[in-house]
Amino acid sequence: MSTDEETGMIRETVAKFVDRELIPLEPHYLKSKLPCSDHPHVTVEQKERLRTVSKDLGLWGLDAPEDLGGHDLPTRTMAAVHEELGRTCVPFILPPDSPNLRMLQAVGTEGQKRKYMQPYIEGRMVSAIAISEPGAGGDPAGMKTRAVQEGDQWVLNGRKIWITNARAADFIIVMARVGNDARQGGITSFIVEKGTPGFIIEREIPMLGGESTYEIVFEDCRIPKDSVLGEIGKGYAPMQLRLRTRRLEMGSTCIGIARRALDMLCEHAMQRETFGVKLAERQAIQWWVADISTRIHACRLMVRDAADKTDRGEDIKREASMIKVFATEMAYEACDHAMQTLGALGMTLEIPLNALSQKARLMRMYEGPSEVHRQAIARRVLGLRG
Ligand SMILES: Cc1cc2nc3c(=O)[nH]c(=O)nc-3n(C[C@H](O)[C@H](O)[C@H](O)COP(=O)(O)OP(=O)(O)OC[C@H]3O[C@@H](n4cnc5c(N)ncnc54)[C@H](O)[C@@H]3O)c2cc1C
Repeated sequence: MSTDEETGMIRETVAKFVDRELIPLEPHYLKSKLPCSDHPHVTVEQKERLRTVSKDLGLWGLDAPEDLGGHDLPTRTMAAVHEELGRTCVPFILPPDSPNLRMLQAVGTEGQKRKYMQPYIEGRMVSAIAISEPGAGGDPAGMKTRAVQEGDQWVLNGRKIWITNARAADFIIVMARVGNDARQGGITSFIVEKGTPGFIIEREIPMLGGESTYEIVFEDCRIPKDSVLGEIGKGYAPMQLRLRTRRLEMGSTCIGIARRALDMLCEHAMQRETFGVKLAERQAIQWWVADISTRIHACRLMVRDAADKTDRGEDIKREASMIKVFATEMAYEACDHAMQTLGALGMTLEIPLNALSQKARLMRMYEGPSEVHRQAIARRVLGLRG
C-alpha cells in the first residue's frame, strides 16, 4: 500500500472516531467549562470509552517504533491524524503523545525505553515536560533550575511554571542546568518520577479556556544517577526535537480547527438571510470563506512539506517556526470570522467556536510565542548568528 493510500485510510478511521465519539461529547464538554460548573471536562466513563474505542480501532502507538508494539507511521500520516482530531474542542490524545516519545526514542537508554517508553506507548503512563521557569519561557536558555551530582544521585533545585499535565504525569522530563556554563551549555534533561520527595506541585494555575497548568518546585529533589535522559550538558538538541514535533503537530491541529470554523461559517451563511439576502451572497463573508480556504490549503502544503522533510531526516527548524506562526494565527482568525458570521450565536458558549478559538489562542503562546518564532525565521533569512 502506498503512503498516500495508507494515510487516506487512517484519516478516514480517525475522522469517523471524531464524528462518532468526540463531537457528540461537545455539549457535555462545553457545559463543564462554564464558570460555575464543577463537572469534569470529560467523565471517567467517557474517557474510558474513548480509550477502548480508539484502541479497538488500532489508533494507539501510531508513530511508535514497531519493535515496541507501534506502527511506525510516517509524519505525513500523523499530520492527517492530528488534522482530524483538531476538528473538535474535546481534548483527547491517542497514546502516546508524540513529542516526549520522540525525545525518549532519540536519546533514551535501553533501560529508560523499557521502563518509560514501553508503558508510555501502551497508554499506561502519562508524561509531562518542564522547561519554562518564571524568568525563562520564550527564552529557555535563561533557565536557572540546577542539577548537582552527589554520589550516585542527582540533586535538583529550582522552579518551573506553566507545566501542562504536571499532576497527572507518571514522570516528568525536567530540563536543568549542570555546571556553570552560560546559555545553552550545561542544559541537561532528567526523568523525575511522580511522588519523588522534593518534587512539589505548588499550585494549579487556571488558564484560558478552562484549562490548567502547574507551578512546580524542586527542593533538594534526589533522583538516581541514571535519570539523565541523553548526555549531560547536551539536552538542548533533544529538547528542540521535542518542540519541533509538537510545532508540526500544532500545524495540523490548527488546520482541523480552521476547517471546523469554516464549515460552521458556511453552513450558517447559506441559511441566514439579512436584509433579504443570504449572508453567503455578501462579499464580506465570501472573502472570509476564500481567505480561510486559501490559508488552509497553504498550511496543509507547509505541513506536508515539513512532514516529508522530517521523514527524510532533514532539519525542519525554520519550517517548524513558520508553521507555528502561520497555523496558529490562521486558526485563531478563522474562528473569529466564523464567530462574527454567526452573530450573537457566535458569542455563545453553547457551540464549540469559542472553545476552538481559545485552543488556538493558547497555541499562539505555548511552544514559543509567535514573536520569538518570527525572530528566529528572520534571523535565519538575514543570516544573523545565534
Ligand atoms: C497553555 C500553556 C501550556 C504550557 N505548557 C508548558 C509545558 O508543559 N511545559 C513548559 O515547559 N512550558 C509550558 N508553557 C510555557 C510556554 O512555553 C511559555 O509560556 C512560552 O514559551 C512563553 O514564555 P513566557 O510566558 O515566559 O513569555 P516571555 O518569554 O516572557 O514572553 C512574553 C512576550 O514577550 C514577547 N517577546 C518575547 N521574546 C520576544 C522576542 N525575542 N521578540 C519579540 N517579542 C518577544 C512576546 O510577545 C511574548 O509573548 C505553556 C504555556 C501555556 C500558555
